[in-house]
Amino acid sequence: MKKINSINYGGKIIGVGLMIMFVIPGMLMLINTILNFDVILMLSRLLFLIGAVILICFTVHLLIEFHQDKKVDKYYSKHRNVKIKINDGKYECGACGSRNIGPNDDFCNTCGCKYEQAEDKKPQEILDGNEK
Ligand SMILES: [Zn+2]
Repeated sequence: MKKINSINYGGKIIGVGLMIMFVIPGMLMLINTILNFDVILMLSRLLFLIGAVILICFTVHLLIEFHQDKKVDKYYSKHRNVKIKINDGKYECGACGSRNIGPNDDFCNTCGCKYEQAEDKKPQEILDGNEK
């Protein structure tokens, strides 16, 4: 399964869901106190349900993401002596966080830890690999 990362769109989905579930139906109900059309009442109830479905689906999506994060976190807590690839071809020490690591270094020149593998796995590889 693909690694989920909702940090960039999670807030927007919750906002849209709440808007469809409460804000728009609330405005329609307000308008309907004047107009009193059954169609507007039905529309606001339908929107409430659509908003609820969006929020329920997103909650499930979030629970899957949290489960994946837990798995990745567990992997990292057992494999601290790795170098993690960051931008510009540089690496970060998994043990101390030093960013002074080159692609060919096999130990950290800040904390001295020896890396157990050349390069760390990406979260997607951890999920695909079924790591314990
Ligand atoms: Zn280090």
